[in-house]
Amino acid sequence: MTISNSCPVPTLAAGALLHGFRVLRVQQIPEIRITAYEMEHLITSAKVLHLHCDDRENLYTVGFRTPPENSTGVPHILEHSVLAGSERYPLRDVFNELHRGTLQTFINAFTYPDKTIYPVASQVRADFFNLARVYTDLVLRPRLLRETFRQEGHHLEFSNPEDLASELTVSGIVFNEMKGAYSSPEAMMYRAIQQHLYPDTPYCFDSGGNPDDIPLLTYEQFKAFHSAYYSPTNARFLLYGDIPTADHLAFLEEMLAGFDRVKLDSTIKSQSRWREPASIRGYYPIAKEDDPRRKTAVNIAWMMAENVDCETALMLQIVSGMLVGSAAGPLRKALIDSGLGEDLSPLTGVEPDLKQIAFIVGLRGTDPDKRQSIEDLIIDTLKSIAKSGFDRALVEGTLHQVEFNGKEIVRSTYPYGIILMGRAYHTWLYDGDPLEGLNFPRAIEEIRKKWEATPELFQDVIRKWFLDNPHRLLSVMEPSNTYQAEQEGAFKKKMALLKASLSGDDLENIRKDVLALKKFQTEPDAPEAALPSLRVSDISRLIETIPTVKAAIDNVPVMMHDIFANGIGYLDLAFDVSDVPEYLQPYLPLLAKLIANMGAAGLDYEEMAKRIVLKTGGISYHLSAGMTTEGRNSWQKLIFRVRALHRNIADAVSIISDILIAGDMSNETRMRDLIAERKNDLHASVIPSGHTFARRSAGQTLSVAAYRDEQWHGRTQLKFVNIIAGEFGERKKEVLDRLTFLQHMIFRRDRLHVNLTADAEGLSLLGESMPGFLRCLSGGGVGNLSMPAFSSIDMGIAIPARVSYVAKVLSAPAYADPLSAPMFVLARELSNGYLYKHIRVQGGAYGGMSLYDPMSATFALLSYRDPNIISTLNIYRQAEEFISQNKISSGELEKTIIGTIGSLDKPMDPSSRGYTAMIRNFTGLTDEDRLKFRHAILDMTPELLLDAASRYFTEAADTAVIAVYSSFENLQKANEILEPKLKMEPLV
Ligand SMILES: [Zn+2]
Repeated sequence: MTISNSCPVPTLAAGALLHGFRVLRVQQIPEIRITAYEMEHLITSAKVLHLHCDDRENLYTVGFRTPPENSTGVPHILEHSVLAGSERYPLRDVFNELHRGTLQTFINAFTYPDKTIYPVASQVRADFFNLARVYTDLVLRPRLLRETFRQEGHHLEFSNPEDLASELTVSGIVFNEMKGAYSSPEAMMYRAIQQHLYPDTPYCFDSGGNPDDIPLLTYEQFKAFHSAYYSPTNARFLLYGDIPTADHLAFLEEMLAGFDRVKLDSTIKSQSRWREPASIRGYYPIAKEDDPRRKTAVNIAWMMAENVDCETALMLQIVSGMLVGSAAGPLRKALIDSGLGEDLSPLTGVEPDLKQIAFIVGLRGTDPDKRQSIEDLIIDTLKSIAKSGFDRALVEGTLHQVEFNGKEIVRSTYPYGIILMGRAYHTWLYDGDPLEGLNFPRAIEEIRKKWEATPELFQDVIRKWFLDNPHRLLSVMEPSNTYQAEQEGAFKKKMALLKASLSGDDLENIRKDVLALKKFQTEPDAPEAALPSLRVSDISRLIETIPTVKAAIDNVPVMMHDIFANGIGYLDLAFDVSDVPEYLQPYLPLLAKLIANMGAAGLDYEEMAKRIVLKTGGISYHLSAGMTTEGRNSWQKLIFRVRALHRNIADAVSIISDILIAGDMSNETRMRDLIAERKNDLHASVIPSGHTFARRSAGQTLSVAAYRDEQWHGRTQLKFVNIIAGEFGERKKEVLDRLTFLQHMIFRRDRLHVNLTADAEGLSLLGESMPGFLRCLSGGGVGNLSMPAFSSIDMGIAIPARVSYVAKVLSAPAYADPLSAPMFVLARELSNGYLYKHIRVQGGAYGGMSLYDPMSATFALLSYRDPNIISTLNIYRQAEEFISQNKISSGELEKTIIGTIGSLDKPMDPSSRGYTAMIRNFTGLTDEDRLKFRHAILDMTPELLLDAASRYFTEAADTAVIAVYSSFENLQKANEILEPKLKMEPLV
């Protein structure tokens, strides 16, 4: 990702007619280095927005307004289904083909409560237009076969497909995906608030689909929804990147040829404002044996301004930042300090993706009888802020955060263009000005001026949108030990009733329909059906390198990366933790969290929090471990990262210096709150990323790096934090002693590696502040490597979910092994080929994949939101056999090679480039190694791949470990058949 500091010179003027489009306006926005063009298609009135800049990762998106009229999930099922082929591209699963066989850097589809958006991105022009061409054709002219509807949406089947006497059940990819979503308390809580805060609008329905309602959707309704909303007239095209506007218009002209303007009304209705607050009560599942005390969440939500009112929207974001955005936020602090709950509700903050903005705040880890006290506390705190105003440093700090976020070039899992797309849609979808929300550096300046003229500006916001706004909902979400059994019971009963009402012929037809679907799923695509694609010979054999200079300051190794970062400097401080004794290893994540969030150098945590928001873009920390390239040694680091505008670099360094050297963790209440927050965050991440937890559980005995990953981030960590939080009263002294011991042991010069990323000016500022910092750190104290004791066993972990996550993990070679390149290709081939087909398409799971990680030296087979356990494990074994015994075709291999290279070439933002260079350095991975690896992938043949697979799976078979996360009942059922059996344990 290379971005310069100016916006392109306009190439078209407002009023121009080109390729059947009229240019409505052209606007340069130097603050975000964009020249924006707003256009309209003359015939269909399709809307187009091009954000022209010099980023070569071009993004294409097409979006439609798709307000739902019920909770059958029709927008979501359609989002999945249009990707399953069009007349021009009659392939069964075009999305998967594009995903596996192109240089896409991002390909996805999103269903929102009121819109559906299809984005693709690539750094290679020809690849970009191939992707955009296929995507446009899919959404505008999909086949929408009945089989696709049944596969993606829902269909009836017997639990034993051949046995008409077995239970009747429902399957379907979206159906199972949403069963998973309806197991996550956070997702359920959010849904309940959205549906009840806007009861007279499309937001009262679930566009994703409620598993109870999904089976009600008919094929005819599904087709009708597409014809109603997926027309160019209802479409918004947003393009981003360095391709000239005229080229996009020529392309779109061709794509829209043959379409006419249609009459439709897809306007999203506004919710009328209530005169009285309201309240709701809901339930979420916990395990049968779990204690329901202190597991309730209480939230208050307000419906606020219309999103098209950009200035108010931004003002609400700022006020939200001041109230709850940092530890110094008075509303956050009042809630946490009250002891009424364990920590802030994860929903806390502004919800900007709806027509009328909502603000939510609350506590989790509380009890239902506290709801009135929580509501009173929130209202009283707001009243007192309205009276006395915000602390000036907090206002300055919050404005600084917005300035920082506007400046920072971010490309994490999404292209930067996706962030701009989100902002544009906040107004564009509701017929507002799509550009107004983009230029927020300027909007911030205006708000700052207003604030100087009207010191009560933010208090007025609190009065108008919070205190004097009766459109307020109190939501109480309580845990239920019986919820899951009741849901399952009700579903089983419904299915039994349905079955009893069906005739023998009906049942026979269900069996036949399932067979027909399986047949459809296994038939190969017609050989003439092909997607436009690149050839391996079109792909560059070169690697992209990261500018790096190695030096030393006071004997501390320093790496410097001269990269344009738009006036921001990044400092990474990586401390070696490989000698930390085993019994202290699980404390490391707590050490990082506590030291970064408590008081230091004589200031309390609130004062430190204010310093951090005022002078830095945030302080983050990571625990990371990996095997070196030859696979014999490991590295294990605790890494702190500080980011700051150039003008604040010296202050930012002195802040991190105070934290590490003079951090004070002795505030017991704060310590208790942070530990509770850590416990709740980890707990809440289990269901949304069950496959990752299962992978960590299974892989933990296969290498030191994998063991640390589980110990620091997996179930072992969750269990550890759960115990510490539960026994905090008795153990707080021991915990503080251990953390203080670790603080003195770890934050020393002799175990430090410094990594600096910025442009030349930033590097020189960072460099100047280093010697002073390093002098304050003491030296010495590095001990011997600590080694865990391994023993592996197949595990079944009981979680309150209606779906399963199945992991099988094997030991695998490290980077330097000649097998590593074929393994990398193999993992992608299995993910997009065998596993995709058998676990997702035929099995009905939301996902099936495999993952080769040379850093932890493991190879994993995984499933996500899976209705099956036994058959998934069988598929894993068959997948290994299949790939070890069958040569894949050279056409299929070519696609996989292109896709593999695409994944290696994912663009990185400035901060990730610097970080990645540091990690490669720890691993011992040179650019020469990387070049060799790339060539080995590009030169892969079906014979080499087959040879690698058969050698690998024969050798590694004995190392396999299984971990399944699922409900207790499902695990028990699986254990009746499995041999050896899973060792069953509750999650914590
Ligand atoms: Zn989905």
